[in-house]
Amino acid sequence: MAKSYWIESLGCPKNQVDSEKLEGTLTSSGYEQASKPEGADVLVVNTCAFIESAREESIATILDLAAAKRNGARLVVTGCMAERYGDELSKAMPEVDLVAGFGVPVTLHSTRSSSRNSDRQPTPNHTQAPAASARTRAYNRTHQPSSHALTPSMDLLELPRPPSKSPWAYVKIAEGCNRKCGFCAIPSFRGTQRSRSKKAIIDEIKSLGSKIREVILVAQDTASWGMDGKALRQLDNPSLQQPNDAAMEVSLGTESGAGTSSSRPIIDLINELAGMVDILRLLYLYPSSLNDGLIKAICNSGTPYFDMSLQHCSPSLLRRMRRWGNGERFLKTIDSIRSIEPEAVLRSSFVIGYPGETEHDHEMMMKFLEEASLDWAGFFPFSLEEGTFAQTLDGRVPQDVIMRRIRECSDLQDSIMTSRRVGQIGKTVTALVDSPGKARSYMEAPEIDGIIDVPIDLPVGSLLPIAITGLQGYDLIGEPAKLVGIHLKGSNHADSGMS
Ligand code: SF4
Repeated sequence: MAKSYWIESLGCPKNQVDSEKLEGTLTSSGYEQASKPEGADVLVVNTCAFIESAREESIATILDLAAAKRNGARLVVTGCMAERYGDELSKAMPEVDLVAGFGVPVTLHSTRSSSRNSDRQPTPNHTQAPAASARTRAYNRTHQPSSHALTPSMDLLELPRPPSKSPWAYVKIAEGCNRKCGFCAIPSFRGTQRSRSKKAIIDEIKSLGSKIREVILVAQDTASWGMDGKALRQLDNPSLQQPNDAAMEVSLGTESGAGTSSSRPIIDLINELAGMVDILRLLYLYPSSLNDGLIKAICNSGTPYFDMSLQHCSPSLLRRMRRWGNGERFLKTIDSIRSIEPEAVLRSSFVIGYPGETEHDHEMMMKFLEEASLDWAGFFPFSLEEGTFAQTLDGRVPQDVIMRRIRECSDLQDSIMTSRRVGQIGKTVTALVDSPGKARSYMEAPEIDGIIDVPIDLPVGSLLPIAITGLQGYDLIGEPAKLVGIHLKGSNHADSGMS
């Protein structure tokens, strides 16, 4: 009888892609998906270690699966938390059979002690990963790109994945990040950016199957795809080591932002991929990368959806975060987008309570939110991460102050989002039916934005003109346009490129 697996995937879309690749690897090794964790031979938790709450969720999931695990089955912990805190996890959780950092096959048959001793190999030279030295890893010593990390023996990024079970899928186009944002530990354990080749990305999209209608391109810094070496040179800039407002702005400003039109490889990629699927969406756009060329390419793709990672708007706080820009520049970018495409949908996320954030910064934030009138926004409490630049900063903001500021931002943004959603009532959009009774148009990214409630009998995977008739929370209510006597005319932006 074939062996079986069960995977629990936590965290962001990038982790979800990794889980699908693990699934592909297990399937090609003869494993079948178990119907429930209790029946699986291998139980895998693909963890997230982004912030404290994500780590807590990962631990809770590990404990749940440990309780469900039958005798003789193996519990494997992989993903960011395994990579970052592998040693600590191994010590603290005896119920875990294998802690597999990046590149370690989850089917590795080693005992806890042997996986942590004989399998151990040299640690990559990530400057901010103190816990990495005693981690379970299997490296291919023969392939060592540059002076950075040794290549893992199993590179998830390039592994095949099974055909998509849903009409949409995330596709990871690069791994790692060359920036050094003050709050973020990701570069310390994901390494510097490695872009995939255009061919590999196209092949992966083809492998998702003919039913795929929407592809969402993800990476840590999606718009920097194909610029691995260039961004690395930026890292050498001494101003990034000793932030100072003027020097930082000059250094990070080399990417220019809206109003300029320097070419970026991602623009070619968008142009090429847009013809392959009905909806091509990009997540995680660093704001300085949004020059006019990229804005136009995204609008021309037929999916004018902009997920801008702004994080804050206060210039001094952004410099302390080692990030580019300020509220004024962001508003200029937003204006540029809306002048090119008035129906564009904008999303962003913000870190609240970064060390040094003052009441004045918070007031700037509130004013910015009003002026930006974003369609979607998320606010996250600052979480102090080991090995980050933020650890060296004074001015910690008390937790109750952080939570109050988040509440104020969220309340304001809620009213903005509601009024923008109300503005959709009476319009007709082309929408993809994701699952029975649930659809999304270009305005809604899966899993993070609202949806469109549609009649339950619409075929899953179909793209249909949907007339928006109402609103419930942030979810729109829609009917197939012909049922309410509305017919699509001309080429409004919701229709073009999506059907
Ligand atoms: S761009 Fe900044 S926040 Fe995003 S992954 Fe890179 S370092 Fe982290």
